[in-house]
Amino acid sequence: MLPPFNFDNSFARTFKGFFVPCKAARAPAPKLLQFNHALAEELGLDPAALDSEAGLAVFSGNATPVGAEPLAQAYAGHQFGGYAPQLGDGRALLLGEVIDTRQQRRDIQLKGSGPTPFSRGGDGKATLGPVLREYLIGESMHALGIPTTRALAAVTTGEHVYRERPLPGAVLTRIAASHIRVGTFQFFAARGGADKVRELADYAIARHYPGTAAAENPYLAFFEAVSEAQAALVAGWMNIGFIHGVMNTDNMTISGETIDYGPCAFMDTYNPETVFSSIDAQGRYAYGNQPVILSWNLTRLAETLVPLVDADKDRAIELLTDAIQRIHPLYEKHWLAGMRSKLGLSTEDLGDLDLAHDLLWVMKDGQADFTLFFRRLSQVLRGDDDAVRSLLEQPGAFDVWTRRWRKRLEREGTPAEACAQAMDRVNPIYIPRNPKVEEALAAAVDREDMKPFSKLLAVLNHPFDEAAGNEDYTEPAPATDIPYRTFCGT
Ligand code: AMP
Ligand code: MG
Repeated sequence: MLPPFNFDNSFARTFKGFFVPCKAARAPAPKLLQFNHALAEELGLDPAALDSEAGLAVFSGNATPVGAEPLAQAYAGHQFGGYAPQLGDGRALLLGEVIDTRQQRRDIQLKGSGPTPFSRGGDGKATLGPVLREYLIGESMHALGIPTTRALAAVTTGEHVYRERPLPGAVLTRIAASHIRVGTFQFFAARGGADKVRELADYAIARHYPGTAAAENPYLAFFEAVSEAQAALVAGWMNIGFIHGVMNTDNMTISGETIDYGPCAFMDTYNPETVFSSIDAQGRYAYGNQPVILSWNLTRLAETLVPLVDADKDRAIELLTDAIQRIHPLYEKHWLAGMRSKLGLSTEDLGDLDLAHDLLWVMKDGQADFTLFFRRLSQVLRGDDDAVRSLLEQPGAFDVWTRRWRKRLEREGTPAEACAQAMDRVNPIYIPRNPKVEEALAAAVDREDMKPFSKLLAVLNHPFDEAAGNEDYTEPAPATDIPYRTFCGT
């Protein structure tokens, strides 16, 4: 017998008609591949009891724990700019919500647990590669300090799932502050009108932004709070070279957590046009376009809030338009704050934005590896310019930039070594390098060998602490004529 999860399912209580109660498909021969003890503890669960046959039964969907009310949530969304009126959990089930040890409400969701009424012809299943990819990259993002959904467990189901070839079926247990998306608001607006959007907004305010309830205009304040959280999130992505790959409105959370690691990947050589996803032919979700999409997606959220923000529609649109126009400056504020710490700056100077932008030009021009470049910048302060210079095709422009940067640092007067150490605490040495991710997934999928995955996960759990013996985890993908491609294929 498992100790209880102490579920408290507020979504199921509140939104009847906007979800469908559902049962997970039976997994014929499940196996627990990965279990996140630290996260289980944070959730107030009993890790030892769950890392077991009984836990496996829950994480595979074969047993419904006491108090769980498995359901598929309905949502809509703009996918690559086109509106899809009905998406919803087509291969996922919300088991329920728990209150964690920090008194935060968290969703527990199974992803890959079989068809639901929202499967739209899909099989509702997930395959092992994408499940492990979400586990790895999500946990890496968490260690990098980026808000994200988390992975509690990964299991194989013992059945084959058919994609281009038969692949091992798998289920990810995902933890989220909530699974409410911009697309959830779009669905509620389309199906329930202003009253239903108000119920959802009240719920989201209470759950994620309780401070906004007392504002003069709570729904406008709510929109501003979501904008702030998402602007900070996308700035965080940009500061570490992360490309989400499929920033549809159904993949953008209200909480401000990164969600749905499909075709995402980290950029090697700095180039704002970088796209990895095989289905993003137009580059809509390219690295450098992410801040633009941030505003575009939040505008879709704003549209649903018009009737709530003011009884006078024109006034509501005016207020929301002003708020939308503040998103980009908000994003820039967060981005620049991130860049300042990447550059070892602890004060603000009017010239910092130019200093940061000019560095990006140097990097682009010199085709520098994004992660190594920032990591090695601290070496300049330790007297070794060549570590960075060797990453650039023509280091001349960098030398000029370095003089400006050093002058700026001198004005702050922080001792060089203290500054270098502060930089090493924000510029990671270990990110999920594409060849290492592929190697770990291939070993697990093709040879049932989880060792490369475990080792990579261990390295990624400490992204800022350089350790001897892990040099090959810092290597960019070798330059080839064939660009690295990622697939949704979940
Ligand atoms: P995503 O691109 O992963 O955000 O998924 C977009 C939509 O497609 C969501 O509604 C998913 O539930 C649905 N979906 C993706 N893969 C499957 C699948 N294998 N079976 C059923 N629905 C799926
Ligand atoms: Mg999605």
